[in-house]
Amino acid sequence: MTAKPLKGRALARRLRRRTAKDVREFQERTGHAATIAAVIVGDDQGALNYARAQSRASANTGIGYQLVRLPGDCRMSDAMEAIDRLNLAAEITGIILLTPVPTHLNQTMLQWRIAPSKDLEGVSPGNMGHLLADTGIFFTPPTPAAAMALLDSLDLELSGQQAVVVGHSAIVGKPLAMRLLNRRCTVTIAHAHTRNLASLTAEADILCVAVGKPGLITGNHVKKDAVVLDIGTTYVGKTVLGDCDPDSVGSKAGWLTPVPGGIGPLTTIMLMRNAYRALARQLGEAIWTEWDWPSVEE
Ligand code: NAP
Repeated sequence: MTAKPLKGRALARRLRRRTAKDVREFQERTGHAATIAAVIVGDDQGALNYARAQSRASANTGIGYQLVRLPGDCRMSDAMEAIDRLNLAAEITGIILLTPVPTHLNQTMLQWRIAPSKDLEGVSPGNMGHLLADTGIFFTPPTPAAAMALLDSLDLELSGQQAVVVGHSAIVGKPLAMRLLNRRCTVTIAHAHTRNLASLTAEADILCVAVGKPGLITGNHVKKDAVVLDIGTTYVGKTVLGDCDPDSVGSKAGWLTPVPGGIGPLTTIMLMRNAYRALARQLGEAIWTEWDWPSVEE
C-alpha cells in the first residue's frame, strides 16, 4: 500500500465543532434555532440507522431533529401531503426524505416536492439549477460536499485537473461533477453504459467513484499517484465495502479514502451544515455554499 489514507474523521470533528459554534452564536444573536424533519416511509433498517446517525449529529450541533414516520403502505398522495405540511410548517427549517422508500411510491417525485428553501439534500430541480448556474446559494448534497471538503483538505490546486466521476446519480455523481467543473477541473462522467471505463479512469488525476459495486475499480483503472475518492458503500453482512479494490488501488494511487472512515464520517455533518445555512437564508442572511476550509482551525 503506497497511497496515503484520506480520512474524514478528523475533518468531521473540526467541522462539527465549527458548526455547533455557528449554530450557538446564531441562536444567541437571533433567537432562532434550526430543526430538521426527516421523513421515513416504512421501517427500512438502513434508513433507520441513517436517521439515528443524523439524530446524534443534530444533538451534537444544537440542531433539532424530528423523525416523521409514515406507514409502509401509505399512498403517494399521503406522502405528498406530509411533505406539503412540512414545507409550510414555520418551525421546520429543513426536510429530508430517508431512502429507500417502498417501491409503490415515486421517490423522485417525493424529493422534488420538498420546497427548495428546505431541501437540505439539494435534490430538487431548483437546487440543481442553482448548482448548475453556480449561484453560490444552493445546497450541495451532503456526500459531494464531503468529497469536496476532503479534496480541499489536500494541498492541491483543483483547476486544470482531469477529474473522472463514475456514477451519475442526482444525489452524488451529478452534483459532484458539477462542483468539480465549477472549480475548473476538466470533468468526465462515466456510468453503466460507458465503454472502456478503465481507459477513461486511468487518465484521471482525481477519480471519484460512486456506484455501489465492490471491486469495480482496480489498480488497472487508476493513474499513478492519483487522488481516489471511494464513495461507494455496500454492506456484506456487517462489513462495509467500497467500490475500489483497496490493495491494488492503494498500491497505485497517491491518496485513497478508506471505506469505512473516508467520506462517510463527513456526510452527516454536511447535512447539519446545510440546516444551519437554510435557517440563516430563511431569515434573510446570505450564507454561501463555499466553505472556507483554511480558516477552520479550531
Ligand atoms: P445509484 O443511484 O444507484 O447510482 C449508481 C450509479 O452507478 C449510476 O449512475 C449507474 O449508472 C452507475 N453504474 C452502475 N454500474 C456501473 C458500472 N458497472 N460502471 C460504471 N458505472 C456504473 O447510487 P448512489 O445513490 O449514487 O450511490 C452510489 C454509491 O455511493 C452507493 O454504494 C451508496 O451506498 C454510496 N453512498 C455513500 C454515501 C456516503 O456517505 N459514503 C452517501 C451516498 C451514497 P446508470 O444509471 O447508467 O445505471
